[in-house]
Amino acid sequence: MSVARDKLKSAKRIVVKVGTSTLTHGSGNLNLYRIEHLIREIADLHNAGKEIIFVTSGAIAAGVGKMGLTKKPETIPENQALAAIGQGVLMHIYEKFFAEYGQTMGQLLLTKNSTIDEHARENSKNSLTALLKMGVIPVINENDAVAVDEIKIGDNDNLSAMVADIVEAEVLIILTDIDGLYNGNPKTDSTAKLISEVPEINSEIERMAGGAGTKLGTGGMFTKIQAAKIAVKNEISMLIISGKEIGNLRRALNGEEIGTIFYKG
Ligand code: GLU
Repeated sequence: MSVARDKLKSAKRIVVKVGTSTLTHGSGNLNLYRIEHLIREIADLHNAGKEIIFVTSGAIAAGVGKMGLTKKPETIPENQALAAIGQGVLMHIYEKFFAEYGQTMGQLLLTKNSTIDEHARENSKNSLTALLKMGVIPVINENDAVAVDEIKIGDNDNLSAMVADIVEAEVLIILTDIDGLYNGNPKTDSTAKLISEVPEINSEIERMAGGAGTKLGTGGMFTKIQAAKIAVKNEISMLIISGKEIGNLRRALNGEEIGTIFYKG
């Protein structure tokens, strides 16, 4: 086992980010089976003495599903409205599952300002620290209902890296719909190989990340590399793993060789 992966076993403060593609079915409706298992895993990690900060996407997708639409609308106000609808739907489900496993969660909706303005950032940190001290699991999303482009982070990969920096986490784990970073596109190239360890984010790694994103999600691999840069700069290891297989979070934190780990080499 590599040193970087071995360290994961003793990590105490962990940010877990889950993307829309993991939380929803292809139809856009919430994937309750996956959500329930993920919340159970997080609750169990908490029981094992870890501090978990949960960054979740899926508000707009949940709004899309709730309103019986098939895709995100075109206009900003409509997307803001769907975020307002979906955020509640999402929290209702998390609250229910966390409560079933004996945990308390607290929701924080952040804006770009909460992560960059010194005073606002300090307030975000104080609130998050107080929640962790109370043994509560913070559940974070961007405040999409009021944020527009100029004041938006825009994707939760970057948001989760900023949160990891604010709370001084040791690890950031991004759960997504692909096994990790590949040196080609695994959907079109059968020879594409998974990169297990990235000790340095160079132009070769950036090239592999390409573009992408799904019809409901935002980021793709590109924003994950941006997040990895923020994390690694702040001495936080970052992992990209598949959120589709139940139990991957625990496996990754046991140091098993799954997904891609970025770390300061
Ligand atoms: N904050 C957006 C939402 O909850 C998702 C952003 C992203 O997918 O990265 O719908």
